[in-house]
Parts: sequence; structure tokens; C-alpha cells
Amino acid sequence: MHEVSMGEILERLRELGAERVLIQTPEGLKSEAQALADFLEGNGIEAIISGDINYGACDPADREARLLGCDALIHLGHSYMMLHLEVPTIFVPAFANVDVVPSLEKNLDEVRKLGKRIALVTTAQHIHQLERARAFLEKHSFEVITGKGDSRVSWPGQVLGCNFTAAKVDAEGVLFIGAGYFHPLGVAVATGKPTLAVNPYSGDAIWMDNEAERLIRRRWAQIAKAIDAERFGVITSTKKGQLRLAEAKRVVRLLREHGKYARLIAMNHISYPALEGFDFDAYVVVACPRVPIDDYENWRKPVLTPPEVEILLGLREDYAFDEILG
Ligand code: SF4
Repeated sequence: MHEVSMGEILERLRELGAERVLIQTPEGLKSEAQALADFLEGNGIEAIISGDINYGACDPADREARLLGCDALIHLGHSYMMLHLEVPTIFVPAFANVDVVPSLEKNLDEVRKLGKRIALVTTAQHIHQLERARAFLEKHSFEVITGKGDSRVSWPGQVLGCNFTAAKVDAEGVLFIGAGYFHPLGVAVATGKPTLAVNPYSGDAIWMDNEAERLIRRRWAQIAKAIDAERFGVITSTKKGQLRLAEAKRVVRLLREHGKYARLIAMNHISYPALEGFDFDAYVVVACPRVPIDDYENWRKPVLTPPEVEILLGLREDYAFDEILG
């Protein structure tokens, strides 16, 4: 596992016989996208940069690449996701240039509180250091389990904001390595196990259990807000890796079976302002689970995930995180 260099991208494009490419980038890699475009054009390949911000491998711009007459898509910043793509696509994951071991060393006493048999997970940015982290932990007598995860993830031990299958192993607790809250929060809720998040940049360690409880309380409040709703907009996504049409139809069916009015809505970029003017009392987002959970404060109507609808309708008792499984 190594960084994909510009030279390797050029070589792959030449193998494909590509004459024009589209480069797609997340917010943080815009200057790299521009440098890559300059490099490719200097080597005889016409390059167009997509100005749409990209949040994940779930949203490849292959359709746009085809419309622009490109022979290939270069998707920067995220690892491969198994999708049916309309043009050859080169995924160029971005690996973080930070050593994870010092942060583990600093927080060893906290890690010990997880137990002896621990699950180890991280995001794509640090996945190249997973074996280094494992070796360090094993040297300190931990039994480290790395779940394979399902086909939505690229590597064993990798979690996405919508997929925590690699964390669901027979372990006493879960150690997450990485920055940000959403992933370790999802791990804690999805596994129901003590979860410690170690941030390799700051060196901080945070137990996610209280955070998970707070999140679940906020989500129960959203469910309660929707209790009297009669008219539901059920939103599915047109982004390839978020398109869950069968699941969205199942939610529509469940709502209708329980006497509610439900209408399917398809959207690319899901945000509340675009929905103003429709006559619904509440919404269900059957797409990226981050949308209703991260962004609910910006919605003037209650916004739920599919498992939350099941709770609302009395079909489920325990809270469950919405995941997209491969
Ligand atoms: Fe990330 Fe959401 Fe895409 Fe999953 S669906 S990969 S959480 S952006």
C-alpha cells in the first residue's frame, strides 16, 4: 500500500489510451488536483477539473466524465468502492503523513481499559499504518483483531461513516485511530462496545461512550418530533454509492402500511433549502447517513434514518445506526 504518484497515474492513463480525463477532488486536495492537471497536460493528456466538491468514493463523477467526452476519471482522496462506473476510474487515496505510534504510546493506559482483546479500526487516511499500530499493540500484549469488513470497504480494518462492519468482531472494546468524531461515534453506536478514539495528530484520546449516548438521545428527540407527522418525504440519492432505491421503497411501503402518506423523492445534493415548498411534515433520508445525523439542525422539519422510522412505527425498540452495507 503506497501513495500513487503522478507518474503512476500518467502510466495508467497511457495504458488506457486516455486523451482527456476528468479530475475529481475533495475540498482539501484542490491544489493537488490543479498540479495533477498541469502535469498531465504537460504530458499530452487534456485534463478537466470538476469544481463540484466531493465527499466520498460513493459519489464518483463518472457520468459527468462521460458527458464531457473524457476517457477516464481520476478520483482523488478516497479509496476504491465497488460500483458500476461508466468510464475507467483511477482511485487515488490520500494517506496521512502522521505516525500513529506516538499517540498510542501516550495513551497506552487508556487503551488498556478496553481489555486485552481489542478490535482495531481506522479510516482510509491511516490504513497504511494499521500493521504498524498492530505490531506496537501486540508488543504490549494486546490481542488485536482486525475485521475484514464487507465489500463496501477497500481494506480490512477500514471504517466509513456509513459502514462499520470491520469493527463488528469478537472483541472486548474497539480502538479507533483517526481524527474527527463521526467515525468513532458510529463505531460506538454500531458495535455497542466501549470505543476509544485516538487522534494521531493531537495525541488526544476520547472515550466515545458518552458521546454515543448523547447522539442517541438527540436522535430519540428527532423521532419524538416526528411522532405526529402524517406526510413523509422519503429521499433517495442519485449519487451512485448512496443510491438505495430498494431500501427507500421499503420505507415508503412501511409508512403507507401504517396509514401515513409517503412520497419518494430523488436528489443529488440533499439539503433542506431545496425541499422548502413541498408539503411534508417530516423527511427520511435513505442515502448517506451523515446527512440526517450531522446536519439535522439545519432542517426545519424532523429528519430521520430508516432504522429511526422503524422505531417511530413501533417495529424496532433498540436504536440502530443507519449503515450502507456492501
Ligand atoms: Fe462517506 Fe456518506 Fe459516502 Fe458513506 S455515503 S462513503 S459516509 S460520504
